[in-house]
Amino acid sequence: MDIQAIVARSNLLSLAEAAGAVLQDKGRGRWRSNCPLHNGHDSSGFSIVDGNDGKMHWTCFSGDCGSGDVIDFVMKWRGVDFVEACRYLGGNLDADPADVLRLAEERKQKAEQEFQAAKARLEKAIADLERARAWESYHRNLVEMPGKRLLWQLRGVPDAWQDIWQLGYTSDFTVWEPGEDQSTWTPAWTSPTLSIPVFQPGWKISTVRHRLLNPRNPGDKYRPDRANLRSHPFVCNPETSVKGPVLVVEGEIKAMGVYIAADDPNLQVIGIPGKQQFLNYAYLFENAEPVYILPDPDGEEYGMRLAQNLGVERCRMIQLSFKVDDAILDGLLDRTSLRRLLQYAPKVPSI
Ligand SMILES: [Zn+2]
Repeated sequence: MDIQAIVARSNLLSLAEAAGAVLQDKGRGRWRSNCPLHNGHDSSGFSIVDGNDGKMHWTCFSGDCGSGDVIDFVMKWRGVDFVEACRYLGGNLDADPADVLRLAEERKQKAEQEFQAAKARLEKAIADLERARAWESYHRNLVEMPGKRLLWQLRGVPDAWQDIWQLGYTSDFTVWEPGEDQSTWTPAWTSPTLSIPVFQPGWKISTVRHRLLNPRNPGDKYRPDRANLRSHPFVCNPETSVKGPVLVVEGEIKAMGVYIAADDPNLQVIGIPGKQQFLNYAYLFENAEPVYILPDPDGEEYGMRLAQNLGVERCRMIQLSFKVDDAILDGLLDRTSLRRLLQYAPKVPSI
């Protein structure tokens, strides 16, 4: 098997695009995009560089996907092993099996090292966040700066809930962009933000997300408080674990609105950060039943996939032709009608 030939022949750019990357050509053999491997939204969170070694290399800066060449990319994207990835790329596999095994083992070790390094970075970032308790100062801004609570009220979150969830406001959050060398980050611009601390059951902080109020691109509105933090579903009631009846929606602010409107202490509501990420968090619902899945109108496919993954018998699907938070804000959905929606939510067909 000639690995060099496979790598040289395969086009990482078109594969990344096939996987969902929206590439921006930064010139001199460098591209940036959202990370297609973990469906990231940050449009600078993934890079492809045409290296000096004649190979294209990719790196995920916004998730835990690691880095590598086109074969590593296919392994991650398709969820396949080294040999299958080579076959996917049209490689000739009539090679010495010992060679193939050795190459596969090398890749595996590299992936494991990257995974451990990413885990260590994440743990350090969370420890730093806990030490700084940054979300508390953002919450103070909200309380002390005139008129800022209104920004949350307009999104359907009254003051009492702003305090419970320790929601906040920042006037000049720094957004980092890739530097000239495409490997370091530099402060690029600032935006006021709404800050959302995301707690796991037991009020364990997992990240603080910033909703940019002046985003440069309307589809790219969220940033983590600091580098290396990962997104995590918003758990509306961190007093208890995720068990019993659970309602899943897309987005933190939507989850808040639904939780407040439902007004049911026995109902846990979870906001998944982005429709493409529904499946990434299937593990969270191990002890939940029934799981009511309420995707946005354009996210039904992802909701269905989550149901199939969890087992359709414990899922109920709620499909609306409008966004549920808009309906709540407009007074079209209240406690009674929301409860009725749950009560009559149909089972999910098995496919
Ligand atoms: Zn990634």
